[in-house]
Amino acid sequence: MKDNGLLALAVERCERAQLDMVVEECAELIQAIQKHRRQEDNAGTPMADIIEKGVDVELCLEQLKTIAAEPVLWNHFRTLKLNRLVRKLGVKREA
Ligand SMILES: [Mg+2]
Repeated sequence: MKDNGLLALAVERCERAQLDMVVEECAELIQAIQKHRRQEDNAGTPMADIIEKGVDVELCLEQLKTIAAEPVLWNHFRTLKLNRLVRKLGVKREA
């Protein structure tokens, strides 16, 4: 089974649990970042832990995208947000 199919099946089987998982994984990423930032000597949470939590969030967001089942709307908001970032940074967007 390909990655997209795997994620879609996970969502299909337990949509509510997947939404709860998005919340949980985002909270874990926030906590890892806060622990890292609290340590002035960076002896706290290593960046690898933050990256690992980030990957968890990334996978959950892929599932959320499937739950939403609105790829056009998802991409619409993505374009809006990227254009806002382009204006904020005062740069030109390249394809
Ligand atoms: Mg986790």
